[in-house]
Amino acid sequence: MTINLILLGPPGAGKGTQAQRLVEERQLVQLSTGDMLREARASGSEMGRRVAEVMDRGELVTDDIVIGLIREKLEGSDAAGFIFDGFPRTLAQADALDELLAGMGRKIDAAIEIQVDDDALVRRVSGRFTCGNCGAVYHDETRPTQKDGVCDQCGSTDMKRRADDNAESLRTRLMEYYKKTSPLLGYYYAKGKLRSLDGLREMDEVARDIGTILHEQNLG
Ligand code: AMP
Repeated sequence: MTINLILLGPPGAGKGTQAQRLVEERQLVQLSTGDMLREARASGSEMGRRVAEVMDRGELVTDDIVIGLIREKLEGSDAAGFIFDGFPRTLAQADALDELLAGMGRKIDAAIEIQVDDDALVRRVSGRFTCGNCGAVYHDETRPTQKDGVCDQCGSTDMKRRADDNAESLRTRLMEYYKKTSPLLGYYYAKGKLRSLDGLREMDEVARDIGTILHEQNLG
């Protein structure tokens, strides 16, 4: 059985963390356009250079670029399922995704909205850091590493903070979310695909809720 899920929610809602768990527990493939764009920047490619400033300001990059990235990953993939994390972020991207999946004989099974209030987002995002080697996500207060500066999962000391995890960029990212991405809630609701859950609880409880949603949809 194939499963294709979208994780929706503002920056800092926990989409990446939950996506990583689904990868581990259900062997799905995580498609994060944010990660792909950060990779493009790190590789110094022409496209990476073009998007760098836009990303640091917290604005969305153009639809063409992210749709192109997703198309490349989907084409030729025989994965059992995908978790779309941070994509789609606009209605044009949502339409493009439907088309791409239809071309592969697939469809979106559910769009899961992780709800978190704005004050909590600011707190979460401002303490966030990740392991540059394996991508594990940590937080200064709520999820510190066991040993200072050392990743619990892979032992790497290459800890990174995102350039756009600062108060100014976060304000822009939130505004972009409310203006351009939140209409997707209505879009997936109207298609009967939207499921919402409370993202303010412990990670394990949120993960359990996602499991329940998948079960209710007969997806596992
Ligand atoms: P994220 O890691 O998902 O928070 O994405 C980081 C940044 O990458 C965003 O603030 C945007 O600048 C850019 N980005 C990621 N995904 C998209 C997307 N689907 N559409 C437009 N811009 C995106």
